[in-house]
Amino acid sequence: MTPRMIGLDGDDTLWESETHFVTTTAKMADLLSDWVDSDAAVERLIAAERRNLKTLGYGVKAFALSMIETAIEVSASEVDATTIQQIVEWAKELMDHPVEVIEGVREAVEGLVARWPVILVTKGDLLHQESKVAGSGLADLFTGVHIVSEKDPQTYSRILAEHGIEPREFVMVGNSMRSDVIPVVELGGRGIHIPHDLTWALEEVDGIAVPEGVSELRRLGEVAPLLESPAD
Ligand SMILES: [Mg+2]
Repeated sequence: MTPRMIGLDGDDTLWESETHFVTTTAKMADLLSDWVDSDAAVERLIAAERRNLKTLGYGVKAFALSMIETAIEVSASEVDATTIQQIVEWAKELMDHPVEVIEGVREAVEGLVARWPVILVTKGDLLHQESKVAGSGLADLFTGVHIVSEKDPQTYSRILAEHGIEPREFVMVGNSMRSDVIPVVELGGRGIHIPHDLTWALEEVDGIAVPEGVSELRRLGEVAPLLESPAD
């Protein structure tokens, strides 16, 4: 059936995100090289992020606190204030980084909104996500912008109810199988997966069954033709 509403993810679907975290993680590994090798530093940082997720949520500020915690841990509290200050600076740089809309995305979103109402569903730090939405220049195209703290079935259900849309009338498109596809399919909606070259370790779905019938595309521009194809 033809959908009545399309949902789009933001980070690494509409604009680059993970690449900036990867760059900062590499700098962090370098910073900690007096105490641990690079692989161990990255591992410890991911472990801290995983541990802190429930308390701190997603986004740069949570990442910053996990970096600081990791520095204190691996250095057995030897790390000095100048180093901590450096980490804080990197976090600010991440927050202030100009938005890089992925190539072809603007045209693709315009193509979608010409046919269906399109909402943005993105998770993370509210202030940062708001500034990314504004900086993307795409905000005016969306019927609604939803910045949420977790993308679970309850969250999607609430958003769809707000728009008066049944899950089976909804298609969600994003790079994260865990956050964009699986919860929507669970509700009875449809998910389209557009993998990005980089996926955050905590978005990986090792051990989770990928639902049947999920389309995997390479570009956002392929979504409208897929949804309009008679065979679909
Ligand atoms: Mg994403």
